[in-house]
Amino acid sequence: MREIQLPRRALLLSSVGLAAGALAGCAASPEVDLDVAPTPTFGPGPGATPEVDATPPLEPEPEPLVPEAPVLPDVEAVIAAHEGRTPQHWGVDIPGVVRTGVDAGSADPGRVFLTLDACGGPGGSGFDERLIAGLQAAAVPATLFLNLRWIEANPGLAAMLAADPLFELGNHGSAHVPLSVIGQQAYGIPGTASVRDAAMEVWANHVALTELTGVRPRWFRPGTAHLDDVGLSIAEALGERVLGFSVNGDGGATFSAATVAAEVGVAGPGAVVIGHMNQPGSGTADGVLAAVGALRARGLEFGLL
Ligand SMILES: [Zn+2]
Repeated sequence: MREIQLPRRALLLSSVGLAAGALAGCAASPEVDLDVAPTPTFGPGPGATPEVDATPPLEPEPEPLVPEAPVLPDVEAVIAAHEGRTPQHWGVDIPGVVRTGVDAGSADPGRVFLTLDACGGPGGSGFDERLIAGLQAAAVPATLFLNLRWIEANPGLAAMLAADPLFELGNHGSAHVPLSVIGQQAYGIPGTASVRDAAMEVWANHVALTELTGVRPRWFRPGTAHLDDVGLSIAEALGERVLGFSVNGDGGATFSAATVAAEVGVAGPGAVVIGHMNQPGSGTADGVLAAVGALRARGLEFGLL
């Protein structure tokens, strides 16, 4: 597969430190390069007449300290490889959807994995500050699934979340529609209707998130969580596994706080809990934060997939 480089803008975003937290684990980060840069004491000073056998071997000048942009897959090649395929499965839990820490191959699969969607669009671009601040105060990690429309409505918040190593940013699609190649609907929302449209539903936000964080997103969750198997294969070919859930924590941000606390509170080891971080008027913040305390009291801890 051919590979392409991320546009120059990504380099600029990375170099101004927007993604400092996310870059901390990146082997190509400037911090790592600085550690191995030759020091001024390496080699003879001006006018020195060193012993012949004390002269260190000549080494090439170090490269300038510019962060390396992630190499992106070739979306056109992915589209070409999927054209003509007929979907066999449709829904929220088709083969290949990851629903537990064991499915994910997590290094610590017995934790509870909290995932929070930010769906964007009309009525969907809010920010539940109490929920996110509460998770930060309690040091609860979470995977935050940001839709491209939410990122575009909240660029400062998106940068703040990207810079916090407590959170991993996942891809919640570009237009927040079901990931279909034949226009399948969910909740009356028509899905993408071709291989190209499905690929672009993943791809546009894949590029945006890579620019935002400096690393490529690893997880995809379609708008409405519905997809077909060709869409799943497209997402995986673009480098994103599809994350479902095993515990529906807030019923699409419709549950009361007491119901959210009860639903999230039943999570066991390895559960993937879904909730929403874009509806500050919902019961999600109070319910999730109450459940965090209850789960910890049962000896459970939270982790990233
Ligand atoms: Zn959503």
